[in-house]
Amino acid sequence: MSLHHATAAEIGRGLAAREYSSVEVTRHFLERIERANPALNAFVTVTAERALADAQRADARIARGKGGLLTGVPLAHKDIFCTTGILTSCGSRMLANFVAPYDATVVERLDAAGMVLLGKTNMDEFAMGSSNETSHYGPVRNPWDPARVPGGSSGGSAAAVAARLAPVATGTDTGGSIRQPGALTGLTGFKPTYGRVSRYGMIAFASSLDQAGVLAQSAEDAALVLGAMAGHDARDSTSVDAPVPDYAAGLDRPVKGLKIGIIREFFGDGLEAETGAAVRAAIEAFRREGATVEELSLPNLPLSVPTYYVVAPAECSSNLSRFDGVRFGHRCRDPKDLMDLYRRSRGEGFGVEVKRRIMTGTYVLSAGYYDAYYLKAQKVRSLINADFRRAFARVDVLMGPTAPTPAFAIGAKTDDPILMYLNDIYTIGANLAGLPAVSVPCGLSGGLPVGLQIIGPHFAEERLLAAAHAWQRLTDWHRRMPQGWA
Ligand code: GLN
Repeated sequence: MSLHHATAAEIGRGLAAREYSSVEVTRHFLERIERANPALNAFVTVTAERALADAQRADARIARGKGGLLTGVPLAHKDIFCTTGILTSCGSRMLANFVAPYDATVVERLDAAGMVLLGKTNMDEFAMGSSNETSHYGPVRNPWDPARVPGGSSGGSAAAVAARLAPVATGTDTGGSIRQPGALTGLTGFKPTYGRVSRYGMIAFASSLDQAGVLAQSAEDAALVLGAMAGHDARDSTSVDAPVPDYAAGLDRPVKGLKIGIIREFFGDGLEAETGAAVRAAIEAFRREGATVEELSLPNLPLSVPTYYVVAPAECSSNLSRFDGVRFGHRCRDPKDLMDLYRRSRGEGFGVEVKRRIMTGTYVLSAGYYDAYYLKAQKVRSLINADFRRAFARVDVLMGPTAPTPAFAIGAKTDDPILMYLNDIYTIGANLAGLPAVSVPCGLSGGLPVGLQIIGPHFAEERLLAAAHAWQRLTDWHRRMPQGWA
């Protein structure tokens, strides 16, 4: 077995058994990136020197017997996480000159675990998108079919792991940006409970929805990396002060007796037939393993897309006001006066989708429209929350598809924002309610990966990971690689 066919956990075990060194593993992945990245455009920055220095330190730590399972294992970070001394672009021209002066908590913690940083991955501009086509650095290609999108906004991380240019990568999920690209590239995409992972140093899009997580080859890898990045952080006031369970130790919980709810609203029009069939077959397999399955209705869930597209733009219009050409980021040339500096710096620095969101957000927050849009959306958000609460009084987890279709062609939806927004119809609910959710590969449609989504109550990460792991012991979908990258 080649090194890049191994999961992060398998590489960790190989390192601990001294089968190879972290420097060897790191060189192997750096070579793969050099070879394949021009075709995929998954990385914005490759940090080869830093990676080799990290790897040497990891090897020394392992030699002293002080390593953990992730020590010496390479990873890639989505370019939304601040990394000291390294370009942190957030996929935007606005930050194309921004070298972060500090590390995000997620970066700091995975660094402390001894992981090796291969580079920073491409993404939709400021994480706004479902296809990675809004990036200032150009679209990312899906390794399963380079004419198609990898999903977004964490599309660079997804493509990198799917083509095994990195064993594992971080992502962020505001409305589906870990789970949807995970589904479209055949990966395990894990979004934790809101507040489980610190948002410090993660460039803000919509602060009440943003959450960091993992794009991995398996539930085991997701459990290990999540365990290392989660936990309280005094620098993020919404970070929750609760102990982090040993996620990897809880993976073997049996499926028998698990109460599964199928979300009726997720199986209506708009769900592609083969995708629906693969998801139903997966749920049927859980039933055969001893789970109980009942269909539930969450009547307000179909309102999640319009609700999100009021709440998220409102928050982004506020968060992105800090990019003014004065303190950091892009500044226009020869401003005439202060207004000209603001106008042209923002006009040049932001792309079309980001501007659309800022304008929508400013509008829904303005006096006279606030009650009709923003306040109304917050009320609907409460109703969606209540739907989930009622459902979790009956069942342990909810299941359904992650995305309505497999990966679509590059350019297919760029002219129609609404069509693009509808891609997140099944993922956004979990963000609005702050719930943990995971997408696991469960089949193919027209040769392209399909994801099964499992949503749990707040802080049920262990339950979700155990269900995902059980599925991955029954099947080998997560082991399939796209052709041409072996
Ligand atoms: N696709 C959604 C959007 O465009 C979600 C993005 C995300 O989760 N960051 O806003």
